[in-house]
Amino acid sequence: MKVYFKTVGCRVNQVETQSLTEKFVSLGYETASVPGEADIVVVNSCSVTEYADRDTFNFIKRTVASHPKARLVVTGCIATLNPQKILELAPGAAVFPNADKEKIPYQLAGIPPKENFFSVGGFSGHTRAFIKIQDGCNLKCSYCLVPSARSEIKSKTAAAALAEIKNLIGAGFKEIVLCGTRLGMYKCPETAKGLAGLMGEIFGLSGDFRIRFSSLEPGEVSEELAAVLKGGGERFCDYFHLPLQAGSDAVLKAMGRPYTSGEYLKKLDILRKNFKEPGLFADVIAGYPTETEEQFAETLAFVEECFFAGLHVFRFSRRPGTRAYALKPLPPEIVRERAERLRVLDAGMRASYAASMCGRSLKVLVLRTGRKGAFDGEIPDLETRPHAKGGDCGPKAVFAADSENKSRQTLGLASNFLNVSLKEKIQPGSFVKVRILGVSGGSCSGEPVQPWP
Ligand code: SF4
Repeated sequence: MKVYFKTVGCRVNQVETQSLTEKFVSLGYETASVPGEADIVVVNSCSVTEYADRDTFNFIKRTVASHPKARLVVTGCIATLNPQKILELAPGAAVFPNADKEKIPYQLAGIPPKENFFSVGGFSGHTRAFIKIQDGCNLKCSYCLVPSARSEIKSKTAAAALAEIKNLIGAGFKEIVLCGTRLGMYKCPETAKGLAGLMGEIFGLSGDFRIRFSSLEPGEVSEELAAVLKGGGERFCDYFHLPLQAGSDAVLKAMGRPYTSGEYLKKLDILRKNFKEPGLFADVIAGYPTETEEQFAETLAFVEECFFAGLHVFRFSRRPGTRAYALKPLPPEIVRERAERLRVLDAGMRASYAASMCGRSLKVLVLRTGRKGAFDGEIPDLETRPHAKGGDCGPKAVFAADSENKSRQTLGLASNFLNVSLKEKIQPGSFVKVRILGVSGGSCSGEPVQPWP
């Protein structure tokens, strides 16, 4: 029997799909590369924005219309929050809420489930591996559905996480990204160790690897955690994705975000004190319903003051079941215009941050190689852009194609999340120290520091 997987949304969803795939294969199923080949089609849905909803519902409609014989299984946040809508579109679908997602392969095979907090043994088609160590959120940000869709706060045991990471290092993965809905809320159910404690143990593992965090809530940044991460040296990526959402205290209050702009800045200071020019990225929502032009101007000014390495800009999206849903939305043209102004700011900050790396040597993980000049111009859909659909995430990697750079054939990712391209052909999945010689847009180019692998 063949299974096809459609995944929409966040890193946690992507890790869960990888784990489900491995479980199905362990039960004798094969994976299909297109829905048309599949006996079973599994949709791991997302509902974080209306675009994610639309993406999922359109896929379900298409599957029902063009592959009526396929068994349709829908899970994820829409299956948890709005199962009736799925059954309207696909009356025959099997709907599994997030809480039952890991049981799917076993239930379909008619055997007792073997759940292991979505552990993975690899990450097909990727040079980097992603693992899930935490789930759930108990904050109540006014615009967000996640606490309703992932309400149970839980963590993987430290022992299981360490075994999984050891296994991935053994499988040749050099970079492992720790994922969770609220990574900073990690707490081992056996030892009560927190994220700092777990990281201390991970840094004690043998092998040539580095760890990256998917994201941290600002409140989860502490002097203690930063000191432990600093102690990891090159085994920890100097990259932090800290959702900000707004720079105006009035808007932050309206959103129910648990910090002020001043407190947020203090968190950046902790990170800048412990890491040399770390890659600091932030999510910002454009066009929150109560946001005035003056408050938006505060956000622009605050974002500039933070001097981020890059932004992920999201247009406000009304979500049924959230407090913000009841608010009168701003006119769409205002929302679009504010998102555009943030993106312009973002492009400038990415270029400045990339330029600030000139002359420095960065540890780069080679992601891909191609023909001569393969990495000239716009680079679509790098491994680094999960939310490509519907979201307004940061710009694509753009390498200005001029005569000098025409020959570039290797692309990598620096520890601070900068895209780096090289002329030399270097094996994907290997680390190389690169001296940064040039920048274009928000990306860098350079040459390997001798000796290289
Ligand atoms: S912290 Fe806020 S925005 Fe993030 S998942 Fe929780 S409720 Fe949603």
